Amino acid sequence: MVVAYRRDEIPELRGPIGFVPTMGALHAGHESLINASVERGNRTIVSIYVNPSQFAPHEDFSRYPRTLEADLAMASACGASVVYVPSSEEIYPRKDISVLVEGALGTRWEAAVRPTHFSGVATVVLKLLNIVSADEAFFGQKDLQQCQVIQSLIDLLFLKTKLIVSPTVREIDGLAMSSRNRYLTEDERKTAPLLHESLFGCWLSIKSGSDISHSLDSARQKLIEAGFTIDYFSMVSLPDMESTLSITNSASRAALIAAAALGKTRLLDNVVW
Ligand code: AMP
Repeated sequence: MVVAYRRDEIPELRGPIGFVPTMGALHAGHESLINASVERGNRTIVSIYVNPSQFAPHEDFSRYPRTLEADLAMASACGASVVYVPSSEEIYPRKDISVLVEGALGTRWEAAVRPTHFSGVATVVLKLLNIVSADEAFFGQKDLQQCQVIQSLIDLLFLKTKLIVSPTVREIDGLAMSSRNRYLTEDERKTAPLLHESLFGCWLSIKSGSDISHSLDSARQKLIEAGFTIDYFSMVSLPDMESTLSITNSASRAALIAAAALGKTRLLDNVVW
């Protein structure tokens, strides 16, 4: 056991700290974030915490996969210095202070379907960034709106942590890796890569000059025919994530974002210009 009064008294944590917050059930997507942190020369702290405040009462909090032993092995194999597995008593001793996410980020897209989700995410991330004193924090592009929320949290609360966004890691057939993919039935798993295919196809057709509205509609139609229930399939400007149907100038960034369910499983994906 190490008894320490300051972080730099723990040899494993001497130097810049890279932080990878996760909810566990680690897969190659998480692995890529840990690798990115280690490769940038950070002492890397991985947190594993299924954060209750980002789940609505009807969501999958209690059945969210928990695979701690395998997670510890994976984090250690990737070169993480510390795995932090806090309890809810530690993170939420009281519930009288939390972060409110408003505006387009807090009301559109994921937030329209999951109204309290990003306030829960921002609250836990703020707590964790402070607990681990992160110099850099690593998040996946797969959760694009989450990345914009965290960047706003950092900017608007004057946090010192730098956000690093890592590209989405995919299965061989293109499906974005996710801890929730294990909920898909065999048939749904076969259909699932169509979400990425449609986003990518739509991106190509817009890039080659096709009408944006028409390209979005035909991609949506294909997904519906394949059995998806679409929450949104849209083009947005970045970083504000406002809906757009134009790419105004070469400096402005845009993304195609999608969330769609197959049976009971919601899948998220995006393509960023
Ligand atoms: P989660 O455990 O689902 O909360 O995810 C923890 C972090 O891993 C978040 O920053 C996610 O965006 C990121 N992540 C999840 N899946 C992927 C993926 N397929 N590729 C890259 N990053 C991912």
